[in-house]
Amino acid sequence: MSVQIDNLVIASGNRGKLAEFQQLLGPLGLRVQPQSDFGVTDVEETGLTFVENAILKARAAARASGLPALADDSGLAVDALAGAPGIYSARYAGESNDGESKDKANNAKLLAALKDVPEGARTARYWCVLVYLRHADDPVPLIVQCDWKGDILAYPRGDGGFGYDPLFWVPECGMSVAELSAEEKNRLSHRGRALQSLITQLKESGQVTE
Ligand code: IMP
Repeated sequence: MSVQIDNLVIASGNRGKLAEFQQLLGPLGLRVQPQSDFGVTDVEETGLTFVENAILKARAAARASGLPALADDSGLAVDALAGAPGIYSARYAGESNDGESKDKANNAKLLAALKDVPEGARTARYWCVLVYLRHADDPVPLIVQCDWKGDILAYPRGDGGFGYDPLFWVPECGMSVAELSAEEKNRLSHRGRALQSLITQLKESGQVTE
């Protein structure tokens, strides 16, 4: 039997991600709370895949809050770099920086790694894996994974979004992700489409209504 959910904890401290989740889940009447409301800090991401790390994050947030939890593990996989930075996207340039300075350092490292890679060979994709746990010991998590294909620019463009967005070119839009509106990013992105798919599953299982 499924239970209708009202409150949900988001297992992330990333402000960019939290804003995107709020925008998509708020209209469903769900009260979305960041894990920091429950004193949860980032768990150690010891998995070797996005899905393992997303499960670790969701479980820690569900356990601390007593609420259903939604976690995202995401990252950028660049073909010319054999899929790097991948699951290490957040800490590509090291663990020490935070927020905007961390994004800047990661982007600088990516540009340096690709400096000899010509246009046409700079293909990449964002990946997002979402895990929804009804409670910390839920043996049947809902799992969705989505990608978003693009190219890595030689220079940053735009100042929206977060992370690698100024370097991620979306060919069908003729813009970088940092130049898209928040609505457009949510409609097209790895995270936005994964979340739409998860919402469909939650509706089908009767856990959320319109
Ligand atoms: P996580 O918080 O451990 O899942 O790490 C995700 C990292 O991947 C972020 O810190 C960014 O570096 C990168 N990333 C994931 N999704 C996006 C996105 O939508 N835009 C830009 N960077 C992203």
